[in-house]
Amino acid sequence: MRASRYLIATQKETPADAEIISHQLMLRAGMIRKLAAGLYTWLPMGLRTLRKVERIVREEMDKSGGQEVLMPAVQPAELWEESGRWTQYGGELLRMNDRHGRDFCFGPTHEEVITDLIRNELKSYKELPANFYQIQTKFRDERRPRFGVMRAREFVMKDAYSFHLNAESLNDTYQVMHRTYCSIFDRLGLDYRPVQADSGAIGGSASHEFHVLASSGEDDIVFSTESSYAANIEKAEAVAPAGERPAPGEAMAEVATPGQRTIAAISEFLELDVKRTVKTLLVKGEADEDGNAGLVALILRGDHSLNEIKAENLAGIAEPLTMATDEEILAAVGCQPGSIGPVNLNVPVIVDRSAAHLADFVCGANKDDYHLTGVNWERDVPLARVEDIRNVVEGDPSPDGKGTLEIRRGIEVGHIFKLGNKYSQAMNATVLDENGKTAVMEMGCYGIGVSRIVAASIEQNHDDKGIIWPDAIAPFEIAIVTLNGHKSPTVAEAGEKLYEQLRQAGYDVLLDDRNERPGVKFADMELIGIPHRFVVSDRGLTAGTLEYKGRRDADKQDIPLEQALPFMV
Ligand code: ATP
Ligand code: MG
Ligand code: MG
Ligand code: MG
Repeated sequence: MRASRYLIATQKETPADAEIISHQLMLRAGMIRKLAAGLYTWLPMGLRTLRKVERIVREEMDKSGGQEVLMPAVQPAELWEESGRWTQYGGELLRMNDRHGRDFCFGPTHEEVITDLIRNELKSYKELPANFYQIQTKFRDERRPRFGVMRAREFVMKDAYSFHLNAESLNDTYQVMHRTYCSIFDRLGLDYRPVQADSGAIGGSASHEFHVLASSGEDDIVFSTESSYAANIEKAEAVAPAGERPAPGEAMAEVATPGQRTIAAISEFLELDVKRTVKTLLVKGEADEDGNAGLVALILRGDHSLNEIKAENLAGIAEPLTMATDEEILAAVGCQPGSIGPVNLNVPVIVDRSAAHLADFVCGANKDDYHLTGVNWERDVPLARVEDIRNVVEGDPSPDGKGTLEIRRGIEVGHIFKLGNKYSQAMNATVLDENGKTAVMEMGCYGIGVSRIVAASIEQNHDDKGIIWPDAIAPFEIAIVTLNGHKSPTVAEAGEKLYEQLRQAGYDVLLDDRNERPGVKFADMELIGIPHRFVVSDRGLTAGTLEYKGRRDADKQDIPLEQALPFMV
C-alpha cells in the first residue's frame, strides 16, 4: 500500500474522552472512529488488524474441527421465548419490531439460533460431536459502553457451539477448545491466563475465562504464586460446594426473583451498572421470625470502576438513601413493599482496600438461610450460605495448598462454557442414540471477543510513541519511509523497488511516499506501530545502504541496500 493513496488518519492530540491507552491510541493511530456511544467505524488501518485477528481465530478453529457458519444478526423473538430468555435477558437485549409488528432482537449471542438450526439438521448420534462457529457482529446494549471497542455495544465476536450425545463427549471438546484458545492467544502474542469461572446455576457445569493481564482490565483474577490455580474473583469467593446448594429450579426462582428485581431496580435508580461494575454481590443478613425476609446487605465488590462509583455516584447514593424513607425508596425503585418483605436501606459504607472498595446496601430477601450470591440479572442466580462465601484477599493461601494468592486485573477476551442441556432441553434438540432412543443433546459454547482483542493487545504493547504491534496482527509488517522522495527520483525509485521486492516476498508493506517532513512520517509510523521500518534516503543510497529500525529497538542500523529481504527473513 502506498501511504499517499491510503487513509492515514493519525492525530496528535489525545482525545479527551478516551480514558485508557488503547482507546486513545486507536483513535490517534486512525484505526477507529466513533459514530455514537459504543458504535465504531473501523478505518482501513484498524480493519487490517481486526481481519488478522479474525484470520488467526479462524485458522485455529478450523484446525480444531470447527465448521464455520454465518447466522443472521437479527433473531426472531419466538426462539428466545422457547428458551425463556426473552423475558430474562434484560436491558442488554436490543429488541425491535418489523413492519408487521413482529418482535425481533439484534443477537447478543446465538445459542437459540444454533440450537434451532441443529435440532432440524442433526438426527443421529452418528453425526455427533459437531462444533459450529461464526465470526460475526453482536449487539449488546451495554449500560455504559466505554473504552472504545473494549466495551462497545456493537462488536465482533467469534462464537462457537458444540453438540454431543453425552457429557464425556462434551468434556473432550471442551478440552480441545481450551487448548485451541491457548493456541489462539499464543499466536496473538498476548500475556493471558485461563481462569476458572463461575458457571452460574447452569447445573454443575464448568466454565473458564481467558484474561489478558492489564491494569486497565475490568475484572479481578486470582491466582496462586506456586501452582496453576487461577480463578476469577467470583469463582474464588463462591466456595459453596455445589452439592450443598439447593437444586436449581422453582425454589431458587422463588428466592431469586424478588431479590433480582430489587437489585436491578436499585442499580437502575442509582444509575450504576451493577452487573458490570460490581463483581460480586454478597448477600448476608439475619432472617426474621418467619425466616423469609430480613436485613440483607449487598456488598458491592469493586474494581477500578468503583472509583468512578465513588467519585460520580457516591453523593448520589448517599443522599437519596439517607433522605428518603423506606417507603419512598421502595416507590423510587419501583418495588411493592409486600413483594420483597421489609426492606432497609442504609447509607453506603465505603471501605477502601488495596484492590477494592466495598459499598453496602441493605435490601432484598433471603430464605431458609440461603442468600443470593453472584447476582447477575441476566442469568440464573446460584445460592450459597453466608458462611460458604469468603472474601479473598492477596496473600491468602491458595485453595490447593500451594503458594499464596495474587490478585491481578484482567480483560476477558474469551469464555468457554459447558452448557449441558439447558438450551437443548428447553428447545427440544434431540437425536436418536445407539438404541434408537431419543436423547437430548449436550451443548458447549465458546466465545472470543475478536474486536476487544485488538484493544487488549494495545494495552500490552505500547510506549510513549504509540502502538507496538506484534508481527502477527500488525496492519502492515514493514514501513518503507522515503526521505524527500518527491524531490529525489533516485529515492522514489529505490523505495518502489524495495516495496515491490518485499511485497513479492509476501510481506504487508506500507510505502510512506507522502510529501511530508521526515519527522512527521517517522512519528506516524511509530504511532501506528508498524514493527519494522526501512528508511530510503539520498545519503544512504550514495553509500549503498538502507536504514533499518525495529519498533522496539533503541538504535537504528545501516544495512546494504540489497540485504533488506535476507535481513527480514
Ligand atoms: P463482560 O464480562 O466483559 O461483559 P461477557 O462475560 O458479558 O463479557 P460473554 O458473553 O462471555 O461476555 O461473550 C464472549 C466474549 O465477547 C467475552 O469474553 C468478551 O471478550 C467479548 N465481549 C463481551 N461483551 C463485549 C463488549 N461489550 N464489547 C466487546 N467485546 C465484548
Ligand atoms: Mg457482559
Ligand atoms: Mg464476563
Ligand atoms: Mg463471559
